[in-house]
Formats: sequence, structure tokens, C-alpha cells
Amino acid sequence: MRGKLVVGNWKMNGSLRQNDALLADLRSGWTATPSRRIAICVPFPYLWQAQAALAGSALDWGAQNVSEHASGAFTGEVAAAMVAEFGSRMAIVGHSERRALYGETDATVANKAAAALAAGLTPIVCVGETLAEREASATDAVVLRQLDAVVALLGARLAQAVVAYEPVWAIGTGRTATPQQAEAVHGLLRRRLRTAVGEAADDMLLLYGGSVKADNAKTLFACANIDGGLVGGASLKADEFLAIARA
Ligand code: PEP
Repeated sequence: MRGKLVVGNWKMNGSLRQNDALLADLRSGWTATPSRRIAICVPFPYLWQAQAALAGSALDWGAQNVSEHASGAFTGEVAAAMVAEFGSRMAIVGHSERRALYGETDATVANKAAAALAAGLTPIVCVGETLAEREASATDAVVLRQLDAVVALLGARLAQAVVAYEPVWAIGTGRTATPQQAEAVHGLLRRRLRTAVGEAADDMLLLYGGSVKADNAKTLFACANIDGGLVGGASLKADEFLAIARA
């Protein structure tokens, strides 16, 4: 039994004051069960605030990126071990915004996943195709190429990761993949993971991301290979985010 996980991606949003209110509402509004977990991934400067507000609660927290390097002359970068020092449990790697806006390659993403694991964090490895790629019937090839780069580097260690399928055309657009579209890709990813890590693939969490809202979460999360969601915009409102998590 894999259970469900819903992760909020705050992106570059928030302020100390806004976060205080949101974190308090999340903490008071959420009771975890062993099979239902939620977490938030916040901007680096707010990791301490998430830790202070959520320590001892039923929520986990983490970052939206980590450096592929452990330490050294990498001005502006943040190492996974630094993220872990704030009680973080996870880090998103390979979000499509980082691939598109900051030139992260499949190899970079794989290195970041390895760096996260080395620091004791669960990497949430994002894969997903653009609209042009979907329209060119390249979805399967793109997500498998992205996943295979991580498989090649991590091998069986990949079983400790979470994989998020986030079609780029659905992120922040209000256009959600249908449950059928999402499940088709999740099933494909699960089969590839089985060849990579064997039966352990059946215990891995595969999240869907892309305009998940309270009113579409239930049908998405009911799919056999969708184990929860990676939620952007809707994670900034406690009521909406908790409603998604309850779905
Ligand atoms: C995301 O940024 O990972 C995401 C899924 O965003 P949204 O939910 O806003 O589409």
C-alpha cells in the first residue's frame, strides 16, 4: 500500500508575514494518517520559518531546488546538505521552470537528484512534456528520456525518490491533464521504474502536477498509478491546499 502524498510548491512567493498565517493554518488544519501525507516546498530563505512553524506537526517541508555540488565556489547556489540542516525531508529537482528558464539539462537534474539523496533528502524528480512535444506525439519519448537520465545515474537508489509527472502545458495554465492522459503517462513511468528498480517501483510515489485544484484532485488521485499531487498556485491558499490533500 503506497499511500498518498500531496506536495505544495510555493515557487517564488511569500513573505514572512504571509507565511506565518499560511503555515499556522496548515498546521492547525491538517491531521496526517499513515497513508496520507502533505509537505510544502518553500523558497530557501523560508526554510527556517517552515521548520519553526511545522516542527512536531504532521507536515513535512523542503526546498524547490538544490545545487548539484556539495560545497565550494558556486556563488548563489545552495547545497542539499544546507537544506537538510533545516529539518527538510525533500527537494524538488528538475521542475520544468528550472529546465526552461535556467537551462537545466537531464544530466544536471540527475546530478541534483543524487546530491539530494546524498544529503538524506527525498528528491522529487519532475518530468513532463511541452505542448509542442505532446502535439508531436513525443510525450512518451520525452518523459522516458528525462527519467532515464536519472535512472542511469542513480540505478537502484532511484527507489528512494518520488517522481512527479508535470505536463508543462498544464502548469499554471488552468488546463489540467485528464485523468486518462495523466494515468497513461504514470503507467508508462511505473513500468520503466520496474525495469530500473524492480518490485521496489510498486512502492514508489508518482505524483501528478499541473493545475491541480480541489475540484479535479479526486478523480486524478483515484487513478491506479497517481499517488498524489505536486501543487503550485493552489498551495498558497491553506483551504484549497488542504481540500486537495483531503481528496
Ligand atoms: C508546479 O509548479 O509544480 C505546478 C504544478 O503549478 P500549478 O499547480 O500552479 O499548475
